[in-house]
Amino acid sequence: MSAAEPATEVDDEKFLARLKAFEGRTVGAPTEGPDAVNQAMIRHWVEAMGDENPVYVDEQAARANGFPGIIAPPTMLQAWIMRGYKATAELAEARAEGRRAVGASPADDLMHVLDEGGFTSVVATNCEQEYRRSVVLGDRLSVSSSIESVSTEKQTGLGIGHFITTVLAFTDAAGEPVATMRFRILKFRPGTGKSTAALSGPPTAGSEEPRPLRPRPALTHDNAFFFDGARQQKLLVQRCASCGILRHPPRPACAVCRSFEWDTLEASGRGTVYSYVVVHHPQVAAFDYPLPVAVVELEEGTRLVADLVGIEPDAVEIGMPVVVTFVAVDDELTLPMFGPAPA
Ligand SMILES: [Zn+2]
Repeated sequence: MSAAEPATEVDDEKFLARLKAFEGRTVGAPTEGPDAVNQAMIRHWVEAMGDENPVYVDEQAARANGFPGIIAPPTMLQAWIMRGYKATAELAEARAEGRRAVGASPADDLMHVLDEGGFTSVVATNCEQEYRRSVVLGDRLSVSSSIESVSTEKQTGLGIGHFITTVLAFTDAAGEPVATMRFRILKFRPGTGKSTAALSGPPTAGSEEPRPLRPRPALTHDNAFFFDGARQQKLLVQRCASCGILRHPPRPACAVCRSFEWDTLEASGRGTVYSYVVVHHPQVAAFDYPLPVAVVELEEGTRLVADLVGIEPDAVEIGMPVVVTFVAVDDELTLPMFGPAPA
């Protein structure tokens, strides 16, 4: 792991100065999207996303909702200016061969510097969008991008790396601003994350090292009831208070009738294995392996993902009857898991 060997302080400062030199740099000339905003691309997008909002496909519905006509889904913003598969493949090929591609931008150069520094892994961390107006059919969008900031070296859960924030300013054919998108990525050194020690396997018996806790669920006011219920040995399923349909995982609104009103139903805990996997890798120290995980179809009709317990991984079968059991995995967290139903 030579890339992760500690560099001298002077080297670190030089490297950071190289990165910081990219701040404020424009990523090439403003680029016009290859196609005008069009119904065909929108239709493919909303079908793929399962988004049935009529304002994206129905002129009348769009006008009835106060828009000047059919609008593009806000999340499609970047789709209108993407350079396409061919250009992206050429860039990747050039990078793999260590040469600068025709049309490479300062952002590509920055990636190259980070790759050289051993920060070869990448993950998108967040994206913020601001709209001045909706994007409508026929719009011809152009984008100007600039590198807003490159962070100092940070230790993150994934690894040691640098956050890079790029700002994309979208304008229409008249040069008027339409939207801004701020996109942040983390370029990090693989194998330097906080959980790396865990990857070498669970601590052996008698080890000084305490076993790490399971990852905490991200609790919200929509899903807290589920975990509170589990602590009370109850398997609670969210139910629309308007139309009565069950839904899981919990979310704010009913996908059928759009109601925000809901209550819960206590499920019997009986179900069948709808599908399953047996996880062998990657291994995280909080879990035991091989780890069978199932999509359980409850007899009430909803499905949920849960660990299987008390079953040999080889013995799991699709359709097998299972029953819930509540496992206190630590002092704070109790989870519903499923074991074989008594014959
Ligand atoms: Zn409903």
